Amino acid sequence: MPKQTKVLILGSGAAGLTAAIYAARANLAPLVIEGLQSGGQLTITTDVENYPGFPDGILGPDLMTRMHKQAERFGTEFIYDNAEYVDLTQRPFVVKTSEQEVRAQTLIIATGASAKLLGLESESKLMGHGVSACATCDGFFFRDKEVFVVGGGDTAIEEAMFLTRFATKVTLVHRRETFRASAIMVDRMRRNEKIHYLLNCTVEDIGDVAAGEVTWIRVKNIKTGEVSQHAADGVFIAIGHQPSTDLFKDKLELNESGYIVTNYEGSVLTKIKGVFASGDCIDHTYRQAVTAAGSGCRAALEAQWLLETEENELEESAHQPQKEEMDTSAEAAKEKQDGKSAKAQQPEPVGKSQGCC
Ligand SMILES: Cc1cc2nc3c(=O)[nH]c(=O)nc-3n(C[C@H](O)[C@H](O)[C@H](O)COP(=O)(O)OP(=O)(O)OC[C@H]3O[C@@H](n4cnc5c(N)ncnc54)[C@H](O)[C@@H]3O)c2cc1C
Repeated sequence: MPKQTKVLILGSGAAGLTAAIYAARANLAPLVIEGLQSGGQLTITTDVENYPGFPDGILGPDLMTRMHKQAERFGTEFIYDNAEYVDLTQRPFVVKTSEQEVRAQTLIIATGASAKLLGLESESKLMGHGVSACATCDGFFFRDKEVFVVGGGDTAIEEAMFLTRFATKVTLVHRRETFRASAIMVDRMRRNEKIHYLLNCTVEDIGDVAAGEVTWIRVKNIKTGEVSQHAADGVFIAIGHQPSTDLFKDKLELNESGYIVTNYEGSVLTKIKGVFASGDCIDHTYRQAVTAAGSGCRAALEAQWLLETEENELEESAHQPQKEEMDTSAEAAKEKQDGKSAKAQQPEPVGKSQGCC
């Protein structure tokens, strides 16, 4: 038997869990399909110092456990699985996991994004321990340190520039001679004396995994074949993000980078009535836990308001047949009465005289 729900949320990161907290507190008994990364991206980091309410910071996984508990407390139900199929052509929307079919009146997509990584074992082992994919999040931890940024696009250059606020030296590792970023950005970067370059280079490895912190980076010059190792305190991977939106290809509008298109920037409404999207899967700009939580909140409120409007409409239309019945009987009576008794004896249809319809 398919499960039925008023609000189905896909994803259990900051956006999905915030949406769940709001929907649950509105008595909508939401259902969350958590995805395989329960808690989302923050579960792969250590200290989070910019989420409001935690003056001493909080570990990413702890923050997400708290959000999960908060959503549970108000009656959210969870399914630990990925959504593998969606049919958004009509309501209720149909979503299938490997084992379960769910039918939902409204759908909140909060499937997030993931930073593209180099694919090195050391990189994932040291993530949150000197390796990062977010300068805004972690730059502060690298005051007076030497860091490396990997990448050559706008994001890499922005991250490198931002990191010069803290680090004594920022070295950009880029596999080409030239940058893909806009000329103006490149000029600005070139003027920044803290930024150094390892061009035509790829990252071979990052250490020290055994010590549990970044102390070096090894790069290979792809033109000369030369391999060199450099002392490092941090490595920022800035080769882009991948929104987790494959499931919605041909079902929702996606932009050229795969982010879900909403009605206007910052909106959570998609083109399909009843389908909302929030968090990093719609946001290639801010990509922060607090902005994801904010848009999760908006999505839940918008879903709630839509359901309320529809319930009110349903209630009103439940009165409608009664009125039509009265209209019909009034007409029938009028027909019958034509030439016989007085029309004036028939009651005025309820509502019409009040002008409410
Ligand atoms: C290393 C790192 C450190 C960071 N540090 C900070 C920080 O200090 N401060 C800060 O504000 N931000 C930080 N961020 C950014 C922050 O983590 C994200 O902005 C935030 O997690 C986005 O939340 P989200 O809910 O939109 O998506 P995500 O956190 O990406 O969550 C997506 C959820 O969707 C689920 N999912 C995916 N596909 C499916 C599917 N098919 N079906 C069902 N579920 C699915 C996943 O399992 C996951 O639960 C950091 C990010 C990284 C990677």
